[in-house]
Amino acid sequence: MARQFNEKKLVIATHNKGKLKEISALVVPFGINVIPPDELNIPEPIENGKTFIENAKIKASSAVLNSGKTSLSDDSGLVVPALNGAPGIYSARWAGPEKNFTAAMNRLNKELGDKDQRAFFVAALVIMWPDGHIEAFEGTVHGKLVWPPRGNLGFGYDPMFLPNGHNKTFGEFTPDEKHLHSHRSNAFNQLATACLCGRKRLVR
Ligand code: IMP
Repeated sequence: MARQFNEKKLVIATHNKGKLKEISALVVPFGINVIPPDELNIPEPIENGKTFIENAKIKASSAVLNSGKTSLSDDSGLVVPALNGAPGIYSARWAGPEKNFTAAMNRLNKELGDKDQRAFFVAALVIMWPDGHIEAFEGTVHGKLVWPPRGNLGFGYDPMFLPNGHNKTFGEFTPDEKHLHSHRSNAFNQLATACLCGRKRLVR
């Protein structure tokens, strides 16, 4: 059985504002108070893992080492099979240090050309306790890429991603709609089933 998270506070080990907002919205209904990493001066570690889960473990262990508290990390990205999996674990790096996702989406569109537009998002969530115990979960959502990008409600590559079975991009989804269908909520639901089963979820 997975270890239960019974504490009141959880460090969210991400410096990405879009992710922090989404993860907080998933966690708070369980009566958990979120501690953002900048509140504890937790630095961004070097992500040199080869998989989403490896990078999520690096982020979680850096947060635990720097805070001494149980931490939840997210490593995620967009995988395009026609581009041999790119941008994949390099999704953030494609936007450069200035985090320019307009440039990253332009690059993606250029490299894709008339190749197969199918793509999927992956989110790896890792919760690590101060004694080093971890539980890890991975969620996906499949769809295709569209051009031009549509909507400005999300972050990152959301405006280019049309999830299967929908006619709106993630950039056009409201936060609540994205929570129903995203890779992140998919991974989080697995985590909640495994590690939060003793907690009541407040219904909004
Ligand atoms: P990292 O996990 O910090 O390496 O960054 C992952 C990158 O993948 C983000 O900066 C986004 O560009 C992209 N990404 C991950 N999840 C999403 C999402 O839900 N929507 C849009 N882009 C995402």
